Amino acid sequence: AGLVQAIRTAGQEADYVPVPTQPALSCSGLRKSFRGGLVLQDLDLDVAEHEVVVLIGASGSGKSTLLRCINLLEEIDDGTILLDGEHITDPRTNPDTVRRKIGMVFQSYNLFPHMTVLQNITLAPERVHRRRRAEVEAEARTWLERVGLGDKAREYPDRLSGGQQQRVAIVRALVNSPRLLLLDEVTSALDPELVGEVLTMIKDLKTEGMTMILATHEMAFARQVADRVCFLDGGRILEQGPPEQVFGAPQHPRTRQFLRRII
Ligand code: ADP
Ligand code: MG
Repeated sequence: AGLVQAIRTAGQEADYVPVPTQPALSCSGLRKSFRGGLVLQDLDLDVAEHEVVVLIGASGSGKSTLLRCINLLEEIDDGTILLDGEHITDPRTNPDTVRRKIGMVFQSYNLFPHMTVLQNITLAPERVHRRRRAEVEAEARTWLERVGLGDKAREYPDRLSGGQQQRVAIVRALVNSPRLLLLDEVTSALDPELVGEVLTMIKDLKTEGMTMILATHEMAFARQVADRVCFLDGGRILEQGPPEQVFGAPQHPRTRQFLRRII
């Protein structure tokens, strides 16, 4: 848009200098296979700062694998991933440094049962990222307050509802102030009445400008929160666009077939 703007205004505003906008995340030519089966095929995905990208697609289409590759939990066979222009798939990159900048939340909240909410949140920042306890605890408490869990810091996870546990897991992913948040089916394990509180938290994060990629089966939510929807099929992005376009006027027969089945 910067360039288009520059061309349109050329000659009118002589001192307008277009600033090339670098995507927050840039994946190109990603390929990943497991035991010979190709799971991601030459996949390209750029995500702009503050953008919310929603991945939809049938089970097995590669959504989780893509998110795990971005967070360096899986090693890609080919391609590159840049975070703020930094080549994070370079073999010399320290994965812990990257994971400090990319928060990830999974379907199962994976909180440690023998640790309090606060200990769960502060563990990695203290032990892995060597941050000062007082600073991390203060941030954790601020986040817990903001998401209405301020009184739960000293509780153990099994004293919380599933929705509260998942919100704690999201706070845990936020406490390092990541550049990018990856959310993989974060409401799929929740009882239906608890889904709303987690979706509300994600919408609030969008309002605050958090850059996010999320995989979900909640199509109504995808429509509300997505700046862009990507339909994955067989490890490729078969179709993508604004939610009104992908849900309202899907171009590809396979997208139409998927949406007919799921909605
Ligand atoms: P989605 O999240 O869209 O359901 P996944 O990324 O989980 O899809 O899976 C894509 C494909 O990769 C599936 O065929 C799945 O069986 C396969 N797969 C994922 N992880 C592994 C693994 N660790 N080992 C072998 N196959 C895997
Ligand atoms: Mg998955």
